[in-house]
Amino acid sequence: MKKKFDFVVVGGGIFGIYAALHLAENGQQVCLIEKEKELLKKASIVNQARLHSGYHYPRSVATARMSDENKARFTRDHQSFINFAFQKFYAIDRFGSFTDSLQFERFCNYIDIKCERVKQHDYFNFHRLEALYETTEYTFDPILIAEYYKSKLKETKGISVRMYTQIEEASPLANSWELKVRQIDQHNTETIIATQVLNATYSGSNAVNRLFGLPPIQLMHEIAEMAFVTSPQIKNMGLTVMDGQFGSIMPYGLSGLLSLSSVAYTHHKVSYDEMPTFDCQAFNPSCKPSFTAICNSCHARPASNYRKMLSQIRHYFTEQVDLQYLTSMFTIKSKLKANFIDDGRPTEISILNENPRFYCIFAGKINSIYEIEKVVEY
Ligand SMILES: Cc1cc2nc3c(=O)[nH]c(=O)nc-3n(C[C@H](O)[C@H](O)[C@H](O)COP(=O)(O)OP(=O)(O)OC[C@H]3O[C@@H](n4cnc5c(N)ncnc54)[C@H](O)[C@@H]3O)c2cc1C
Repeated sequence: MKKKFDFVVVGGGIFGIYAALHLAENGQQVCLIEKEKELLKKASIVNQARLHSGYHYPRSVATARMSDENKARFTRDHQSFINFAFQKFYAIDRFGSFTDSLQFERFCNYIDIKCERVKQHDYFNFHRLEALYETTEYTFDPILIAEYYKSKLKETKGISVRMYTQIEEASPLANSWELKVRQIDQHNTETIIATQVLNATYSGSNAVNRLFGLPPIQLMHEIAEMAFVTSPQIKNMGLTVMDGQFGSIMPYGLSGLLSLSSVAYTHHKVSYDEMPTFDCQAFNPSCKPSFTAICNSCHARPASNYRKMLSQIRHYFTEQVDLQYLTSMFTIKSKLKANFIDDGRPTEISILNENPRFYCIFAGKINSIYEIEKVVEY
């Protein structure tokens, strides 16, 4: 028996799930294929949860504008999962910043986002900070959002989910795709026919493109660590130091924890290969460049850099601020090579094949899930 669908969506992260819901709500029959036993276990939860307002991209006005464009709708749709109740500061390091205070102010003015200079504050170390600004930026709660989308998926008619499933072969058949898929712990394969395919596998993008005989997109990959800390003094504050190898600390949604990341220390290993290729894969046979496992639960993941991250971020605070490390989460972070210089994070949706159609969605930021609606046709 061959099962027929209008769309196969590959990847059960927030982008794949949002695409599946959007298509099903518009009358399409969708099959969602996820390689892991659980949905939403990778970048969709292991991230800094910043509801980007643009501040982060003084070198990419295009990304800054796209962040601001989608923010209002994302905020409206996910109201109960957003932390609105903290003070968010951006700052410029006195040493080694790509952007100085004047450029940052000009940039904020240009894209019209709040940026008010703070000259004194008991918690911040002005010997290290050239300038400190109070801004408006919120965080979303990735875990609550993941639960919300999982339950929406269950409630929505027209979506058939294949968990722990691998696509073994894919070939064009007239104006459709024919896929042979197999549940990873089973022998039998199933044949699926899909009019269109949507690849939403983020760091798996090129492996899936290759399976369909389609060209890669130009990516680089990093094993990234997000550290989690607590602090009685700054539990309702966030600080992001721009613009270079610096750090950021901010509430991880509504969890009560602060996520801590650092451009210098969050990224442990880098792969410039088409598919994420790391030396730690030699110690975990279930993780291959073409089919990566979940770093978070992997025994071969790198040792934590939390001490370095903490020591870096402490420079920006006075001794009144106490920070306690709790735990870390790891995942593969992928980026478009084209944004190596400007550090932009656009969401790029490419049509890699017509008749049958194949989309590759490469996600830049979570609030750009709506870009799918602009491009995908049915
Ligand atoms: C460290 C870090 C910090 C970030 N900070 C922020 C931030 O503050 N704000 C923000 O908006 N964005 C941030 N991002 C970016 C954001 O997290 C990602 O753009 C987004 O989560 C990508 O979602 P996704 O659904 O495309 O990918 P994922 O969540 O990675 O989902 C992809 C899914 O595809 C599955 N898959 C892979 N290969 C296959 C295959 N062959 N077959 C079937 N399934 C497959 C995976 O198992 C996974 O479930 C950050 C990312 C990282 C890594």
